[in-house]
Amino acid sequence: MKKCILFMLIMLLLICGCADKRSYEYYTQEITYSESAVQYGFRVDMACTETKYARYYFEQTVDEAERTLCIEATDKILEKQTALGFLPEIYIFTEERYPDTSVFENKLYTSVQDWQTVEFTTKVLLTAYGAYSHYGLAYGYANVICDEQITDSAFRMPVSTDVCDLNLLCFDTAFASDSDIATAKSIACDFVQAYIAANGESAMQELLSDSKTSNGARSVRDALADYYKDNGLDYVPSDLRYGYGGHSFDYIVSADLGVFYIKKDWVDMHAEYNPLITDGFLHSDYAETKAFFETNLKQMKQYQDLFALDTYDNDLSIVFENTTLPQTSFYQSNIHTIYLKNVDSLMHEYIHALTQPEYPMTLWEAEGFARYFSYYYDLYGIAFLNQDYNNSADTPELKYIHEYLATINRPIDMAKDFMELENIAVYSRSLTDPNKSYATGSSFVQYLVKQYGEEAVINSIYGNGDPLPKSYAELVKEWNEFIEDNYSNYSKYK
Ligand SMILES: [Zn+2]
Repeated sequence: MKKCILFMLIMLLLICGCADKRSYEYYTQEITYSESAVQYGFRVDMACTETKYARYYFEQTVDEAERTLCIEATDKILEKQTALGFLPEIYIFTEERYPDTSVFENKLYTSVQDWQTVEFTTKVLLTAYGAYSHYGLAYGYANVICDEQITDSAFRMPVSTDVCDLNLLCFDTAFASDSDIATAKSIACDFVQAYIAANGESAMQELLSDSKTSNGARSVRDALADYYKDNGLDYVPSDLRYGYGGHSFDYIVSADLGVFYIKKDWVDMHAEYNPLITDGFLHSDYAETKAFFETNLKQMKQYQDLFALDTYDNDLSIVFENTTLPQTSFYQSNIHTIYLKNVDSLMHEYIHALTQPEYPMTLWEAEGFARYFSYYYDLYGIAFLNQDYNNSADTPELKYIHEYLATINRPIDMAKDFMELENIAVYSRSLTDPNKSYATGSSFVQYLVKQYGEEAVINSIYGNGDPLPKSYAELVKEWNEFIEDNYSNYSKYK
């Protein structure tokens, strides 16, 4: 009996001894963390080490036992990712310094947490495969790695729900209901298991790796659509790519035509005037959020096609920020970034970003052009303008709007009525200089488009086209005559 106890004691000492032996050598390095779009950042000395699978950076107050747990859990995930060919970087801060999560390229920034979870495993996978790789795939695969399959016996394929898109927001309680999130989780796990069973684990890793690009996102969409079809659901998921927002942003959307950064505290400054802007807009309702980005990306593509310029710089940032900006929404050309306080300005600013002149422009060329063409494709802007025009104050300055309403005998629809209303505004205010205001510029551009067509006008200002066949003075004179001849049934305010 004594021998037996002694033997157990020795075994216990051996086991404990082995566990204690695992330690890593650290060196100190100052790192800079930065969310440059809103100038948030900090510098801090970190304890660094490297394993076969990753480079690790710990805030120095994170104790060594905790670091070891993190490294071992992370290495265990990464050793299964056989084709990475580089070392992901893992930055672990204290909860006080950085209670958030972000992934930039192949770097994870997060705080001390439970390392043995599906959530942490998902973060590591997104770091390994790219900031905007597909959340649902990573989540489903994390369940396989953690061996924590969600096998909910009550799970049934839904009839249809937007969370079948399975991106980051579909798993976020702010954007989806608990039951929808449970559905998304079940689908993600089931899909990944089925995909691995059919194609193997390395094919799964390849799909996840590709999913950060637009082509890869489309491959995931197609694979998911096939899976849904096999399960009796006719649903084609969105291929929008969402990523963690870090400290400043609720989330980030990466698309071919630009990257959208939504600040956590952003509120549309025209919320009460725009019927398409609801409470918590872009922070809560997933279907509404998806519709916003899909609609605007479609419109952005329409403008690229319409202007048909030789090249576009699609490395564009679009920052939704309304707390620290000094003015209304604007486009800042030196950093190719649009700052938006209100979504109804997005298309106007996007036109500036597309045409970004390298030489000084007159007001009508820059603002008249942007204002005139912004009426073409702008669901959210038109909704705001309709509300604005149909509720115009009864003032002498705005009498022309009421006169126009009496003429058409229906509510104003700016998608149809913008040309007439710009011209009537110019007439009623007796304006004759295209550079007087955005509206005179817009009316003048409209006149030129009527005479020479969109293509000739666009190319004469921004493309490589010929100048218009008449002098500026002649064109202004003709435009003045056109206004006087056609709108004399309206009263003049000045
Ligand atoms: Zn402008």
